[in-house]
Amino acid sequence: MTLAITSSILKQVKSGDITRFAPSPSGYLHLGHCYSAMFTHQIAAASGQAMLLRIDDIDSTRCKPHFEDAIFSDLGFLGITYAEQIRYQSQHLDASQAAITYLHDQDMIYPCYLSRRELSDLLSAPHLATNTDQMLTPKQLEDRENSDMEPAWRLRMDHIRQHLHGLTAHDLIHGERYIDVNTIPDEVIARRDIGSSYMLSTVLDDHATGVTLVTRGDDLLNVVPVQRILQELLGLKQPRYAHHKLILNAEGERFAKRNNDLGIHHLRQQGMSKDDILHLMTKCRDNLP
Ligand code: GLU
Repeated sequence: MTLAITSSILKQVKSGDITRFAPSPSGYLHLGHCYSAMFTHQIAAASGQAMLLRIDDIDSTRCKPHFEDAIFSDLGFLGITYAEQIRYQSQHLDASQAAITYLHDQDMIYPCYLSRRELSDLLSAPHLATNTDQMLTPKQLEDRENSDMEPAWRLRMDHIRQHLHGLTAHDLIHGERYIDVNTIPDEVIARRDIGSSYMLSTVLDDHATGVTLVTRGDDLLNVVPVQRILQELLGLKQPRYAHHKLILNAEGERFAKRNNDLGIHHLRQQGMSKDDILHLMTKCRDNLP
């Protein structure tokens, strides 16, 4: 079965473009993932390359081996093929460390000693989200620096703004997008417990695996500005993007991992065949406005 991807998108795919499907094993794949994987697979076919599969497993508190096993099993059941070499994001955290050292040397990031709670309070008021350590008294900051507390690392946007202008991202579906660096807060690019983040690991892994065309749902359009900033700061080639619409369930809502009843794993347990599942996905795609 193939998806009806409009010719205006397919025409822009270049021969040799490298794409990837990058699920996180923090839940079962749902019909939205199935659509995204098939979309990517078809773009890969148009480029004449195999789709890469990457397991985004850096968050060891949320990622579980049985979800990982289910990713392979469900993709196999659905007949969605991928290149033999699978990349595990958690095996490349040393690249994040090197990037952090480099960005710190360039004074483009700073360590942040706020606790997770303090940081999340701060980020919920983004207009304040600069120079976070000013929230601590000099004594508190010194104590934390001298403790064995690992810092998180945040972009130093006031410095970055002086260097980066006129950033854009090219999206096959959404067109040329201008990125206004003045609107970007001091994003956390490395969590204290992981030493990396989704943002940083994704940019580094896409680069390391030669991805030239990032395909994913348009719920991730909002991560492009920070990912483009990181690519520029680290001197990485920018990929192109294709953010597709999210398919919706019968209630008109997007699929989420918490809707367990709609996981591919559960649909299979209910006895659905591959064709039943693909038919259901197509019906959901038809809910698109
Ligand atoms: N791992 C991310 C997710 O499951 C997707 C990463 C990406 O495509 O950039 O939502």
